[in-house]
Amino acid sequence: MALSITTDFARDTGNPEPYLREIAEAGFSHIHWCHHWNTDFVYSSAEIDQIGIWLRAFGLKLLDIHASDGREKKWTSEREYERLAGVELVRNRIDMASALGADAIVMHVPDFSDPPTGDPHWAQLLKSVDALESYADEHYVRIAIENGSDNSVATIERLYGLYSSDYLGMCYDCGHGNLTGHGLDQLARLKDRLYVVHLHDNDGTADQHNLPFTGTVDWPRLAGLLANSSYRKPISMESNMHRSGIADDRAFLQKAFAAGTRLSGMVDVARPDATHAPPA
Ligand SMILES: [Zn+2]
Repeated sequence: MALSITTDFARDTGNPEPYLREIAEAGFSHIHWCHHWNTDFVYSSAEIDQIGIWLRAFGLKLLDIHASDGREKKWTSEREYERLAGVELVRNRIDMASALGADAIVMHVPDFSDPPTGDPHWAQLLKSVDALESYADEHYVRIAIENGSDNSVATIERLYGLYSSDYLGMCYDCGHGNLTGHGLDQLARLKDRLYVVHLHDNDGTADQHNLPFTGTVDWPRLAGLLANSSYRKPISMESNMHRSGIADDRAFLQKAFAAGTRLSGMVDVARPDATHAPPA
């Protein structure tokens, strides 16, 4: 069973080794790298090499990376030096993905009004996305823009019109989609460029990052959409322990593995080529 979970299920800074070991011991085959997802942290070659050593030792594979739009290194900053530093920070995550065998990095975008053309950050975003295209291509890494608000989805649709599907696609975060209430309709429109998934649950009131099947996400419909999307990688959960009510890492990971197994099964039977697929 190929299954992935986020590396920051317990914490998102500091030495990741104990958490990688626990993830592997729980039976997961893959990880979504989420450490330092919102910091200016630059991974040095010593750190990337060490992560590679741990992944090999624990028998884990890197699925994709939650890259960082940083705080003072910010790819949409109006201050040009901050934007350039932000582009370097994204390049750093492309380097890391490429060195560790991942095919995509995830990025957030600002909450632009629609249309965003009057917003100076929109022009800065386009400059940065332009600047990264050949670098990403040379490293066989694609950029997946994550959905947040409805406006962020409008931004993703606008970017789809400007950039190739070999370069730019979507990370669907079903917790965010559940908060707006329109996520699954949006995914239905955008699913042919789905590169990355952030699967977790909430009760519709806050971004709780709980385990699948504990909240109000419409999992049967989501499983059907995933099965009929461009996404072919393992089920990848962005759930964490913080509001789970589970204090023990291993107990949490066991529950996560069971939820991921159940969800994988739902996606498998919903695939158009599944032996026992229900009639369309
Ligand atoms: Zn997410």
